[in-house]
Amino acid sequence: MRIALIVLNQASINTAQQVKAQLPDSKIYGLGKRTLGVDQEFESFGSTIKELFQARVPIVGFCAAGILIRAIAPLLSDKWQEPPVLAVAEDGSAVVPLVGGLQGANDLAREIAKILQTQAAITTAGELRFQTTLLKPPSEYELLNREDAKTFLADLLAGASVKLRGNAPWLTDSHIKFVASDQASDLVIEIISNNEPLSDLNPNPNRLIYRQVSSERKRGKLSIVGTGPGDSDWLTPQAKSALLAATDWVGYRTYLNLVEPLRPATITRHESDNRVELQRAEQALDLAAAGKSVAVISSGDPGIFAMAAAVFEVLDQQAKPTWQEIEINVCPGISAFQAAASLLGAPMGHDFCLMSLSDILKPWETIAQRVTAAAQADFVIAFYNPVSSQRTWQLAQAKEILLTYRNASTPVILGKNLGRPGQTTVITTLEKLEIEAVDMRTVVIIGSSQTKVIQHHQQPWVYTPRSYPHSEH
Ligand code: SAH
Repeated sequence: MRIALIVLNQASINTAQQVKAQLPDSKIYGLGKRTLGVDQEFESFGSTIKELFQARVPIVGFCAAGILIRAIAPLLSDKWQEPPVLAVAEDGSAVVPLVGGLQGANDLAREIAKILQTQAAITTAGELRFQTTLLKPPSEYELLNREDAKTFLADLLAGASVKLRGNAPWLTDSHIKFVASDQASDLVIEIISNNEPLSDLNPNPNRLIYRQVSSERKRGKLSIVGTGPGDSDWLTPQAKSALLAATDWVGYRTYLNLVEPLRPATITRHESDNRVELQRAEQALDLAAAGKSVAVISSGDPGIFAMAAAVFEVLDQQAKPTWQEIEINVCPGISAFQAAASLLGAPMGHDFCLMSLSDILKPWETIAQRVTAAAQADFVIAFYNPVSSQRTWQLAQAKEILLTYRNASTPVILGKNLGRPGQTTVITTLEKLEIEAVDMRTVVIIGSSQTKVIQHHQQPWVYTPRSYPHSEH
């Protein structure tokens, strides 16, 4: 995972660079008006910290601890999820882990302290005393009664006796003194195997229970992630977290490239060609069944003419038994039509429909019939896959159909490469719609009979009013 090194002034840049040189996965973020030569500039400290924190990126601030504490205070809600946040003195003389102990803040603090040849200010008593953390076991163990852990740890620190049942080298090698298994003790740490039921174990604050999960049996995850049209401002924090939490990314090459700047070297990339959605879905499910945490990446929204449906089709049709355990999660994204609409106003202010003009997955007769029905129903229509390099006649025919039901002057929007280099938007009319101006990276929005173009600040805006005239019977 990438680590964000935050600098607020030029004085701390040397220290940050020293750390960066030894932490290959880190990036220096600098306050734009006060720093030079950083990897990424930012304007607002508060919103940058907020965004990184919500995306669970470890944060190292080369500034006073108080500044960081104030910035993260409103965001603190779940200590099991919080990323490491560390304060490092401008001159590198002190390294203070503030929160995120359960995500490795102390380990990161020790690593940075070593680079800066100083001591990390570790304050977590359990870890200091026992040289291990009961709350964050190694990945093959899972703590089952987290809610009891706080009291358990407090009692242990207060001197309660404890014994260990089961096999856990990370505990026997620690500084915890276990009483012999045949003696009575105040507390018990119990290690159970994968299949043992929890019900008769009676978890309570005197009994911490860890389940040992062999890595093959770990429950795999499949997140189907919509990354929005391209621009990182159009990527939701949820999607970003899902991307960063994955071990493997699966997707069409072009879509993977859109989010490549976010990918740490620890995440494996599996790219494929366009149009092999079903094989790609199967590959992703197989990886997840093997215990990986997989992100299947779609641009825009993954449920709109994209991978989410492909995954469910494969699940439905093949239903391999090994796939049953996989935890599935769909992260929505901003779709191309929303991006286009937002740039030019509010064309979807009233009823609308989305159609793919590609006849690869459905016959042209069906498409022509639906264009006719949508035109008759006076829906605003967004066309996806309007043309491809091999086919342009579909859009020309759709235009013909539309012209039989709608005015030649009906507003039409073309949104091309939205959120990507080369973004363009065009407002034209149905009559003047040029097929040559449309390519496969364009979404085409056709207005309804009510859609209007207005001028505001010497710029045209398109909108469709929310109300519709009542017809006279
Ligand atoms: N899941 C995507 C759509 C995939 S279908 C989404 O929700 O946006 C592919 C079609 O989507 C393209 O042919 C184009 O019509 C449209 N599209 C996708 N990304 C686009 C972008 N950045 N700019 C313009 N149109 C785009």
